[in-house]
Amino acid sequence: MIEFKDISLVYPNGTQGLKDINVKINEGEFVVIVGLSGAGKSTFIRSINRLVTPTDGELIVDGENILTYNGRDLRRLRTKIGMIFQNYNLVKRSSVMKNVIAGRLGHTGTLRSIFNLYSKEDIGLAYESLKRVNIEEKIYNRADELSGGQQQRVSIARVLTQKPKYLLADEPVSSLDPPTAHQVMTYLKQINKEDNITTIVNLHFIDMAMEFADRIIGMRAGEVVFDGPASTVTEKT
Ligand code: ADP
Ligand code: ADP
Repeated sequence: MIEFKDISLVYPNGTQGLKDINVKINEGEFVVIVGLSGAGKSTFIRSINRLVTPTDGELIVDGENILTYNGRDLRRLRTKIGMIFQNYNLVKRSSVMKNVIAGRLGHTGTLRSIFNLYSKEDIGLAYESLKRVNIEEKIYNRADELSGGQQQRVSIARVLTQKPKYLLADEPVSSLDPPTAHQVMTYLKQINKEDNITTIVNLHFIDMAMEFADRIIGMRAGEVVFDGPASTVTEKT
């Protein structure tokens, strides 16, 4: 469970990124955060794996206040949180295989990854993960040979090899055309339900939020201005 308790974040230049956030996210939920550019969606998401650090309040993940974390605790936190970005964040000149295995080996370079030494188990896991997003035939292609939608599916496969408890997706479909965006959202929802990965996605399209979310959180100027089941969102909010 993730709980924001009176969370505020003021950036060093004085910009208020988050203001008095009180939100509890339960196991297995598929939460979509919506709001205009600058509303604080990315700051909210990045607080959860401590890419940014709130300046006030408590942020509880699995019973611990992660704002007191450093070093080893942060690495432990990040191994259980998968990340998906707008620009896919693949190593473009590496194979799809190598990119996907990176989810399993962790984010820091290990000797095995530097020398491309993968076990049969690693390769099998990469293949199975790629298969779940229907891109296994690209396993030996270079990442930059793939379309945007295909690259985002590879980044989903990378998360699957990581087997995280939580998934944070920061504008995962903003660079994609509408049909491709819809397909990527469908895969995200599918792994949320099948693997019970608690998922938080930032979107700026309310229609897609209403289609996919269990719950929608609306943000404006660093504050939560709406929080409820997708079915209760009307055109006006
Ligand atoms: P969103 O993801 O909804 O577009 P952000 O969380 O990126 O919103 O930004 C929230 C506010 O914080 C905006 O006013 C933005 O300009 C500001 N902001 C974001 N990152 C920084 C930063 N590193 N330093 C200063 N201000 C920032
Ligand atoms: P370092 O740069 O020394 O690795 P960081 O504090 O940046 O230290 O990261 C700590 C750990 O979290 C490292 O293993 C790092 O690779 C990993 N990490 C960095 N960024 C992310 C991210 N966006 N999501 C998950 N883990 C990350």
